[in-house]
Amino acid sequence: MLAVSKTFEADAVRQAYAAGQQAFGENYVQEGVEKVEQVRALGACPHIVWHCIGPLQSNKTRLVAEHFDWVQSIDRLKIAQRLNEQRPAQLPPLQVCIQVNVDGGANKSGVAAGDALELAQAMAALPRLRLRGLMAIPEPAPDFETQRALFLRAKALFDELRAHGLDLDTLSLGMSDDLEAAVAAGSTMVRVGRAVFGHRERKVAAA
Ligand SMILES: *Cc1c(COP(=O)(O)O)cnc(C)c1O
Repeated sequence: MLAVSKTFEADAVRQAYAAGQQAFGENYVQEGVEKVEQVRALGACPHIVWHCIGPLQSNKTRLVAEHFDWVQSIDRLKIAQRLNEQRPAQLPPLQVCIQVNVDGGANKSGVAAGDALELAQAMAALPRLRLRGLMAIPEPAPDFETQRALFLRAKALFDELRAHGLDLDTLSLGMSDDLEAAVAAGSTMVRVGRAVFGHRERKVAAA
């Protein structure tokens, strides 16, 4: 489970870590980078792992490459290439997932399913990135079976990429409202915010 700590303070992260949670996700680069540094300064979370899960613009890639352990929201090669170039030499390779648009909505983030293999093969060749799998955020659906059917599209694509020889182990599907359906479809990582930290009082900060 990835605990999504956006809008919550560093102290909430520290408390969740003390309860046994090690992986945390942030959506907004500026907020996430500040929190990574605040939590590091607390000195109480030595094995914490930070995931960037939000939309990523080119001008923010350096901050992300320097502060995060994972990026799940890559949907174009240019972003992957910049992260590869900007990952500091003293850090291990950045663990990355490709975000896929399984609904086909034109305005949504994520690469189209039909373009995912080409992107994955190009990313797998970048030495400072380690391609781990796929992430998807389907539109909210009213019932379990509809949710599961959308998640199964991502699972089918994941299996297809693996059949092409890509060494993937992470299928990041499911949030507070649909995590059961995601797990039923084969998710290996659910990203849970409100069901861990409670209702988000303030709107998320601007990207
Ligand atoms: C906010 C967010 C989550 C967590 O959502 P909840 O509904 O609070 O569980 C998961 N993934 C992404 C990409 C998010 O932006």
